[in-house]
Amino acid sequence: MCYEPEFFLRLLAVYNAGMSSKMNRRDVLKISGALTASAILPSASQGGQGVRAPAKKYIVVGSGAFGGWTALHLLRAGAKVTLLDSWGPGNSRASSGGETRVIRATYGSRAIYTKMAVHALQLWQENEKRWNRKLYTRTGALWMVIGSEEFETDSMPLLKAAGLPYERLTTQEASKKFPQINFDGVNWALLEPEAGFLLARQACEVVRDAFVREGGDYRQSFVRPGKVLSGNLSEILLSDNSHMAADAYVFACGPWLGKIFPDLLGKVISPTRQEVFYFGTPAGDTRFNQENFPIWINHGDALFYGIPGNQYRGFKIADDTHGPEFDPTSGERVISPDALKAARELMEMRFPALKNAPLLESRVCQYENSPDSHFIVDRHPEAANVWIIGGGSGHGFKHGPALGEYVSKAVQGTIEPDPVFRLARFKK
Ligand SMILES: Cc1cc2nc3c(=O)[nH]c(=O)nc-3n(C[C@H](O)[C@H](O)[C@H](O)COP(=O)(O)OP(=O)(O)OC[C@H]3O[C@@H](n4cnc5c(N)ncnc54)[C@H](O)[C@@H]3O)c2cc1C
Repeated sequence: MCYEPEFFLRLLAVYNAGMSSKMNRRDVLKISGALTASAILPSASQGGQGVRAPAKKYIVVGSGAFGGWTALHLLRAGAKVTLLDSWGPGNSRASSGGETRVIRATYGSRAIYTKMAVHALQLWQENEKRWNRKLYTRTGALWMVIGSEEFETDSMPLLKAAGLPYERLTTQEASKKFPQINFDGVNWALLEPEAGFLLARQACEVVRDAFVREGGDYRQSFVRPGKVLSGNLSEILLSDNSHMAADAYVFACGPWLGKIFPDLLGKVISPTRQEVFYFGTPAGDTRFNQENFPIWINHGDALFYGIPGNQYRGFKIADDTHGPEFDPTSGERVISPDALKAARELMEMRFPALKNAPLLESRVCQYENSPDSHFIVDRHPEAANVWIIGGGSGHGFKHGPALGEYVSKAVQGTIEPDPVFRLARFKK
């Protein structure tokens, strides 16, 4: 068997990453084994002696939740990977650029996401340990059922099948657990105790840092696709006027996908303006903090949700209703008085102790919606070596590690994406 010096450098990078992040010896050996397996292939023509298969080279564009994790999984599978981003992982324009994102497996009848969320939570926790960095906080999520109860009722058997605990609570029971909430108008509540929140923008940076420590190449650059020749993308063009080529390209560009591929995705991905508010709780009052309060969802005709106070940033409230169209590059991120009024009214009705709470901070972000709010994981129909990953549609962040693993397998040809993620669905 013959190993090239580059192989030893990558092995060393993995070993060092493992040592600095308290990865145990078994983890390091597992990754080394994967590297070895991907670097050495037996050759029948050489009488069983191994010959080195060149590592595949992949370029991932976009270091948000989808691209960052995809790049990391491809790297861990033994590929050479370059990750590029115009402004950096979890930047203030990116959909992943918020402080916190909810992770929950309650998904109505959409079993595919319940399963993906369960696997994602496992991967978040595994990697947290590997990096010795806390990104997930378990608070539970309380769904307050106001109008139709179909979503919550459909969720329960799927949560059970996934082995996740849940509680169906009467409003009296819920009120006993959470006396901070006024349950007027609520029919019943569903509590998913394993749900919680993730430190979103920080996680993107942590993933990128791990990617670099483990041997990946990260650069800040704006990317344009080059020419398609004989059904494959020949190269990408970078903002410093250089070019790069790879075996395959993954475009995980969130709300920008429609701009990069206007003919294919211009009408498929619609970025909408979404506003997020952080209100101040009374001095010394810990009732609305992460240790005492769950993620909550006020599920009526409109869906408001919130994340309890964490990192001393205030009590977060957002309206899930899709706002007007928004340009992620040039859009000004200033909140609208109407959205603030609606958030305040909901907060004061549902959480009476927060009456007159001052607004501490606010964010304007964007959802990158697909028409059916399912993700997109597919090849470009005119360039077989181009993968399009996106359509997070307001619920993508939590799935980052599981989706990244899934995409990495699809790109390497070991799985075909589920039809629910394919672009062909928009042609029907
Ligand atoms: C207010 C709000 C609340 C949300 N709440 C939740 C939640 O509670 N739970 C949940 O799971 N999800 C939630 N989401 C959705 C989730 O955040 C997104 O679906 C997810 O972050 C999308 O990740 P992404 O990697 O696809 O896109 P992005 O995070 O936008 O990443 C795309 C990246 O590509 C880069 N890029 C784009 N074009 C180029 C180019 N040409 N060259 C180089 N780089 C480029 C950008 O700079 C960016 O960093 C929420 C979203 C918003 C806005």
